[in-house]
Amino acid sequence: MRVAIAGAGLAGLACAKYLTDAGHTPIVLESRDVLGGLVAAWKDEEGDWYETGLHAFFGAYPNMLQLLKELGIEDRLQWKQHTLIFNQPEKPGVLSRFDVPDIPAPINVIMSIIRNNDMLTWEQKIRFAIGLLPAIVRGQKYVEDMDQYSLLEWLRRQGIDERVNSDIFIAASKALTFINPEDVSATIPLTALNRFLQERYGSKIAFLDGSPTERLCQPIVDHIKAGGGEVHLKKPLKQILLNEDGSVNGFLIRGLDGNPDEVITADAYVSAMSVDVMKVLMPSEWKANSFFQKLEGLEGVPVINLHLWFDRKMTDIDQLLFSRSDLLSVYADMSITCKEYADPDRSMLELVLAPAKDWIDKSEEEIIAATMKELERLFPQHLLGENPAKLRKYKVVKTPRSVYTASPGRQAYRPDQVTPIKNFFLAGSYTMQRYLGSMEGAVLSGKLAAQAIVDRTDDLSDKTAKSLQIAAL
Ligand SMILES: Cc1cc2nc3c(=O)[nH]c(=O)nc-3n(C[C@H](O)[C@H](O)[C@H](O)COP(=O)(O)OP(=O)(O)OC[C@H]3O[C@@H](n4cnc5c(N)ncnc54)[C@H](O)[C@@H]3O)c2cc1C
Repeated sequence: MRVAIAGAGLAGLACAKYLTDAGHTPIVLESRDVLGGLVAAWKDEEGDWYETGLHAFFGAYPNMLQLLKELGIEDRLQWKQHTLIFNQPEKPGVLSRFDVPDIPAPINVIMSIIRNNDMLTWEQKIRFAIGLLPAIVRGQKYVEDMDQYSLLEWLRRQGIDERVNSDIFIAASKALTFINPEDVSATIPLTALNRFLQERYGSKIAFLDGSPTERLCQPIVDHIKAGGGEVHLKKPLKQILLNEDGSVNGFLIRGLDGNPDEVITADAYVSAMSVDVMKVLMPSEWKANSFFQKLEGLEGVPVINLHLWFDRKMTDIDQLLFSRSDLLSVYADMSITCKEYADPDRSMLELVLAPAKDWIDKSEEEIIAATMKELERLFPQHLLGENPAKLRKYKVVKTPRSVYTASPGRQAYRPDQVTPIKNFFLAGSYTMQRYLGSMEGAVLSGKLAAQAIVDRTDDLSDKTAKSLQIAAL
């Protein structure tokens, strides 16, 4: 069975990979000249990589880990020490660690919180633990019900001290969703916390050993091609063509570089594009349908990814750090954390600027000047004083609409991978699956879309499909 997939982000590629494994022929059509969507990366004129986002992988990513294993590339994940590290705004340059001991969950995470005395008092810790009890005891159903509240509202309802919010949840909320606790649905951090509390290595972090485009996406493409599938860059979907009954008749692809438009036909069609693009390309005939109307409730959130190359080493920490600064979210010295970006003498800080709504339209110079000001608080020993470190070069990557904005009430708008149109499916981290707007969510959504297509094989074509094993849903 031929399946046309628009979008070569992780969702589209995972969908194609699992369709190939089930004996089908996916044709992936990507609008840009680079693989990966939100994990795309490029080389600058000096051969240094820069990326759409600083990406951390977690132990609690079963579908991503299984995908890497199936491709034989699980050794490309560089696992870091099991610890979460926070900057302390009130003590510039000083870090606070939550070291997670190698004992069963949830005791390991609880121990890491008990042992940390920099950030919370005993009373705050106890009230935090009591406030969390319903989420732990009543599980994901309770967590989903809390989507009606913002994280800040939920913390107040649970009587959790405001200090827990300012010390931990602002950083967590910005890292997970690029927005602040007053804007994010309580479901998001509670889902992440639940995973971390249930799995021994759930909160353990890994970095890829090189650029996601080459080290993660390319092997998926090689696998798809080896199985008879196709992946084409610079093939933007221009229009979804319909039959009279509203089902899809073809994908009209815009011809670039002087080439004419072309129509790709298949037995089934998948949109693995972002929700913002899907809304624009949605055929008018589908707009009255409540399933597709729900997409109007979703919108990508702005975020900015920064790369700063310095003339010296700024840190020796081989881990993701939570900056706890107003402007920035998480950051890492990629010259240490990532094998291919390694430099023994000089740092390359990769930092996420979030929330970015007030910054997305500002000039790169303004963004870098504000970032350098904040870095003085994170690295006073290197940036203040007589011989400050010099910024050699920088790259700013702005994404005005990235993952869906996870504000309260959004869970109800996230669509299933199966649509009311019999030969049309959705994939993308915004679609409903239990791993939020993440790489894991993207891979799982692609797998679920592939599974749905395989399940409908008899309706969609005459051929019999091989069964598809989807583990760890
Ligand atoms: C700054 C940043 C940091 C992040 N950090 C993390 C992290 O640490 N951990 C984590 O798990 N996740 C992280 N994420 C989230 C993660 O990157 C995304 O959830 C995931 O990559 C989304 O994949 P996707 O395939 O659903 O969507 P996308 O990556 O958006 O893919 C959609 C694809 O469709 C293509 N497309 C668009 N229009 C068309 C068209 N007309 N025709 C054909 N193709 C089209 C796009 O070019 C793109 O390739 C981060 C994201 C960002 C931006």
